[in-house]
Amino acid sequence: MNPAYRGRFAPSPTGALHAGSLVAALASWLDARAQHGQWLVRIEDVDTTRCLPGMAQIILQQLATCGLASDLPVIYQSQRSARYQQALDALVATSLAYPCACTRKNIETALQHNGQHKPRHGELIYPGTCRAGLRGQAAHAWRLRTDIYVENQPPALIDSALPATNSKVLDDARAKGCTRHSAAHAPNLSPLGPPTSPASPGQPAALLHWHDRWLGPQQQHVAAEVGDFILKRADGCFAYQLAVVVDDADQGITDVVRGTDLADNTARQILLQRALGCPTPRYLHTPLVLGANGEKLSKQNGAQPLDLTDPLRALNLAARTLGLSTCTSNAAMALQQWVTQWRTLAGLPTTRQTNKMPAHHGGRLVNS
Ligand SMILES: [Zn+2]
Repeated sequence: MNPAYRGRFAPSPTGALHAGSLVAALASWLDARAQHGQWLVRIEDVDTTRCLPGMAQIILQQLATCGLASDLPVIYQSQRSARYQQALDALVATSLAYPCACTRKNIETALQHNGQHKPRHGELIYPGTCRAGLRGQAAHAWRLRTDIYVENQPPALIDSALPATNSKVLDDARAKGCTRHSAAHAPNLSPLGPPTSPASPGQPAALLHWHDRWLGPQQQHVAAEVGDFILKRADGCFAYQLAVVVDDADQGITDVVRGTDLADNTARQILLQRALGCPTPRYLHTPLVLGANGEKLSKQNGAQPLDLTDPLRALNLAARTLGLSTCTSNAAMALQQWVTQWRTLAGLPTTRQTNKMPAHHGGRLVNS
């Protein structure tokens, strides 16, 4: 077992696995096995209002039927609120997070006042109203400051420096077995090098760059494109972004392999990792499975649960989406064959030669 590789599959129990989620599960399992690493399953039930009772067990059973089982006990986000609160407290103590009293109406009014009212994916870009204080109002939510943290860092230090104020958080992370990635110490499992690269000369420091092993170079200006995002909601639920970052750090995740529909969260998660002094994993976002209507399969648009009467058939569909060949033997043998194929596809060492997954591979959606 390679102790320097730990991947995870992290489904939300809002519905059963469908053909699209099996692609992400299979890819993350193959990447872990291809690198002799560990593969963990985590149930992302942090948003308890959306989870269905008994669904986590159904998902774990679906995975088991496909021959995919967690190497360590499954953890549940719904049992980890104390850890998320601890992380939020640390961010508030270092002024990287702040309470917000705004209602959606307040935010709309402020944005109209600024001449900006176009929502991004239906989300309003928060204008930073409560950065200076609550004006005597009650806190509704807690947000991350996306401006000061990045802009206070000289560009060359973005990937290697921690603000001194975060040393306690870093110590906590280290105590839990986290080691911070740096150019010198990053686990060198991917032939593609460290997960993120510093901003190029002439680009604003706030533009966050990272490398996706499938999609190639990525960038996002979080402060301008997303704004100060929510860490804890008005209803007391911790936000997905915070829970994922804390869990990945606590579990020592080195590699995140997930569907491209989640790629847009990556920049926010990297910002949070830096704010908390947690290491940044490598990222690989897999192609989406499109339905007959050309839209991606998702629980929201009514994707059918996986039909696992023939697990090999379901696995073959997922494998084809990943560019792997169809296997006709049985599920166990197919998985073994795909591990070898994945090494070639992902540019991982097979025997002696090393190939790289071409960057132009990215962006292509495969319809299975
Ligand atoms: Zn506010």
